[in-house]
Formats: sequence, structure tokens, C-alpha cells
Amino acid sequence: MEAKGKVHISIGENLDKISVKCVIEFALPIENFRFKLGLPLKIDSIDADVDVEWDELRAIKAQHPVRPDVREINVSAANPFKKLTVGYSGRPYGWLNDISGSSGDGLQIALFQSSSWRVYETSVPVDFALVFEDTANYDVWEYYSTDIFAFKKGLYFTAVHEDFAVHCIKQSHKEYIRFCAEYFNKITAFYSALYCPIDFGKFEVLIMDINDSEGALIGESLLVIGKVPDFANAEEMRHHAMILIGHEFGHGWFGADWSSWEVWLGETGAEWSALLYLLTEGETKCFDNRIAQLQKFEEEFDTIDNSYVIKTADLSCPQFGAHTRGALLFYEVYRRYGTDAIKTILLTMGELDAPDTEMLLAKLRIKLGEEIPNLIERGLTARDYSVL
Ligand SMILES: [Zn+2]
Repeated sequence: MEAKGKVHISIGENLDKISVKCVIEFALPIENFRFKLGLPLKIDSIDADVDVEWDELRAIKAQHPVRPDVREINVSAANPFKKLTVGYSGRPYGWLNDISGSSGDGLQIALFQSSSWRVYETSVPVDFALVFEDTANYDVWEYYSTDIFAFKKGLYFTAVHEDFAVHCIKQSHKEYIRFCAEYFNKITAFYSALYCPIDFGKFEVLIMDINDSEGALIGESLLVIGKVPDFANAEEMRHHAMILIGHEFGHGWFGADWSSWEVWLGETGAEWSALLYLLTEGETKCFDNRIAQLQKFEEEFDTIDNSYVIKTADLSCPQFGAHTRGALLFYEVYRRYGTDAIKTILLTMGELDAPDTEMLLAKLRIKLGEEIPNLIERGLTARDYSVL
């Protein structure tokens, strides 16, 4: 690392605003420093140990809906500088909510999530350390240096299970959490035996319950669950927990690199790990329901854009469909060639050092011959898998 940065984040009491003071010390004096900042945030001050000037170079559209549009800022000086302090504030990208507790006590809870809030993509690599300030009223979780989650103290409860602690606000989620705990054990044991052992250690789960996303595994120590739907019965709840835990912990073995179209590999690997678990355990009803749900998502995406495919024309990360298209392509492989072919493909995907579709196909050609890899290859740019 060429520079060390310390980022002071104040959440404070003003729910619409975070303020940040970012201090960067460079190993060697530099004359020019560029960084990008999420557009909703506003620069309050930029100072250095010598006089510096700064200007905004350009605004850049986000590559993916979970990331904000950014502005690029250039700091320059006549004399080299060694220390730079950037202050910025505003409503971070993400969301921020007051929502009612469901226990009938009428409690209001402050729940906060932000994504991509900080200075990032700097022209000189900076090793950032985070310091949270004014957070006396919040418990804060920070992951990947870009996501902050905070629950107001005393207004949420924590359910502690053997392997993980779940933080959430609704007492009614306790039964759902019990299913999550049960399937966390079963499914990670299944994956550890199938692929290679991973010990997740102590895990934390946050149930946000404020948006529509299903969930996200962040690093190897936090699972964020977006919305827990209302279930018609316990069986439906159990199915939901199996899919969610199966997919998200599948990412422990199949990462999720959202920087290009090859994100499909991680998402399909995670999803089909879950589906393979269901097939192995004879959970065929849950399997069928999930496939039907993925097909329904696809139909919804079709109404937005009926031309999208796995391998985008400009090779960028797709705006949508990364969770569904590959899963449905593999469903076609499963329908024609069965579970063993899927297992071979998943194990081969697990051998990849990086998301590399071409490498996967080359390896599969050695193991499976031409037919299945050719089907997958055609599927990368096809709309209708049934006629491949
Ligand atoms: Zn995923």
C-alpha cells in the first residue's frame, strides 16, 4: 500500500445524513490525487499540508443498480503534499428508515443501511481504516469498506444460535430464523462434503426487512436478509429458508464478482448448489417451486428488456437477470442430462481461480465431451434455451 487512510464516520442523530472526515497519509509526497465519490454525497472541504486546488472532473453513471452514480474529483498542488483531509456529507446511497416494531409495543426503530458511501477507486492505492463516531445510539456493522448497517440500540433483538447470531426487529421472525439455523448446518455440511470444507466460524445475520431483495452474503461473516415475506404456512417458510440459506451460503464457495457479465458464474454456482441440495434431499416440491419462481422473474425481466442475454454485448455486468438466466440455462442441462452432469459442472466451476467462462468450457470439454459445453456456450447468447 502506498498510502494509509483513516475514515471518521459520524452517523449521529440526523438520520438523513452521515458526515465523513477522511484523512489520507501518503508514503511519498504526491502532486496529484484523484478519487470517486458517490453522487448523493457533497464535498465539504479538502485540505492538505500545502495549498491544494480541487475540481470535479466528471460524473460517471453506475455500472450496476446497487452502486451509485459517482463524481470524479481531482486534487492538485504546486508543491507536493503528504497528507490530505477530505470532508464530505449527505444522504448516502442506500436507504435509511424508521420502521415500527411489530411486537405491538409501538416502538420506532431506526434502521440504516448505506452502500458505497466512501471515497473509493483512488488513483493511489489507499489502505483505509474506519472509525465510527457519534454512534452511541447505534450498533454498527461495516463490511467491505463500502456497506454500513446500523440498528438503534435497544430497539432490536438478537437471537443467538450455535453458529450465528441474528439481529432483527420482528418477534414473528423467530420461527423463520430457526429454519435458517437448521438449514445453515445441513446445507453447509452438504457443501463442505461436496466441494471443500469451509468453516464460517461465528456468523452474523441482519434481517433488514425494508426492501425487496432476497439476501446477500457479505464477506464470510455476515448475511443480510432483505425482505422476509409473509408466509401462508410453515412449509412455505421452510422452503424459503432452504433457498435463501442454500443460495447465499453457496456464495461461500462461488463468489459473486459483479464487475462483468461473468457474474453469471458465481450466481449460477450459488443457485445450483442450493438446487442440488434440494434434489439430493428429495425436496422436489421446493425445487419445482423455485424453478417456477425463476421462470416468473424471467418473464418480468422480459417485459423490461426482451433482448438481454447472459453474455452482454459490451461484456458489462447485466442490469438484471444475473440471478436467473444462468440458473435456467443449467436447468435445461439438468432436464436433458440429469444431476450427474450438473454435479460435474459445479465441481469444475469450483476449480476456477477466477470467473472465467472460457476456461470453464475448456475444462468441461475434457470431462464431458463437446455436447454439454456447446449447449452452455450457445446459451450464453441465446434467448430461448429450449431450442438450443
Ligand atoms: Zn447471489
